Amino acid sequence: MVNNSLPPVNRIMRKIAFGYSTRCNVKCEHCVAADAIPENLKMELAQAKEIITEMADAQIQGISFTAGEPLIYLDEITELVSLCHQKYGIYTRVVTNCLWAKTPALADSYIVQLKENGLSQLRLSYSRWHQKNIARRNIVNAAQGCQKNGLDYFISFVTDFSEQDDACEHYLRDHGLRFFPEAVIFAGRAQSFERLPLCTDYQANCCPMNPYLAPSLDMYACCDAGSHFTRTNFFHLGNLKDSTVEQLLQKSETNSLYNHIRTIGITAIASFAGFKAREIIQYRKCELCEKLFNSPDRLAMLQREAHSGLNAWCR
Ligand code: SF4
Ligand code: SF4
Repeated sequence: MVNNSLPPVNRIMRKIAFGYSTRCNVKCEHCVAADAIPENLKMELAQAKEIITEMADAQIQGISFTAGEPLIYLDEITELVSLCHQKYGIYTRVVTNCLWAKTPALADSYIVQLKENGLSQLRLSYSRWHQKNIARRNIVNAAQGCQKNGLDYFISFVTDFSEQDDACEHYLRDHGLRFFPEAVIFAGRAQSFERLPLCTDYQANCCPMNPYLAPSLDMYACCDAGSHFTRTNFFHLGNLKDSTVEQLLQKSETNSLYNHIRTIGITAIASFAGFKAREIIQYRKCELCEKLFNSPDRLAMLQREAHSGLNAWCR
């Protein structure tokens, strides 16, 4: 998507995480999408279709169906994927826990249906917490079903980088599966998890910040922990009952602080806010973000400085 009226940083492909429903068929103890929001919110199918049409008009080029477990509503998600693909050429991804992939034959039936209707990629969630509820064999069934039927996939291996996860990682390697580690987010049910001390190098911690649309029609500028910043509601863009998709996306793309997160990154903003370098390297990215933007006083200071001091705080 190219919009010449926006500064270069905003000439990005528009992508969105689409929360069709918050309902899930398991209850993982690390789930970020839980506790703060009702567990069984769901959009109407007709409403979701109208929103996708509006998203296509707003030049959104990628939709990731997420939130609870989307494939509880396999036929409805299939219709939405088909609409995206057939009518608008939108790239689609479904994020799933694979409870449905109990056997290779069952995995095939879901995958063939999604693939035939134009799904671009299946993202399989996997972790030692998911696998307390779901046999890890399901992940292999789903991944091998994708390989067999020519559907792109990757496994999102959620980890706290502790030794406890070595066996989980070996399992994926032993089966030759494609996976990417993803840091557990200490929000929602994982809020009270013990955190191992971290010491990274001084990383920029930039975020692309794809928006997230919840079934309540609230839209957030960040699709991960963003809806949990409840003291400031920093990432809340608005609700589709009051605004158009285009208006909310523009709000996300023109907000100076969001653009600083995208470009100079959380680390530089924390440094500007007075955090010591030694402190910064001990925080995970979303935790540091939470310290900065879920504190009303600090947020007010950063908003004041967004066009002045913060602009100059880069190498
Ligand atoms: S982490 Fe995913 S699979 Fe687990 S309860 Fe949350 S939405 Fe469901
Ligand atoms: S660092 Fe902030 S903007 Fe980036 S994913 Fe985490 S909460 Fe969202």
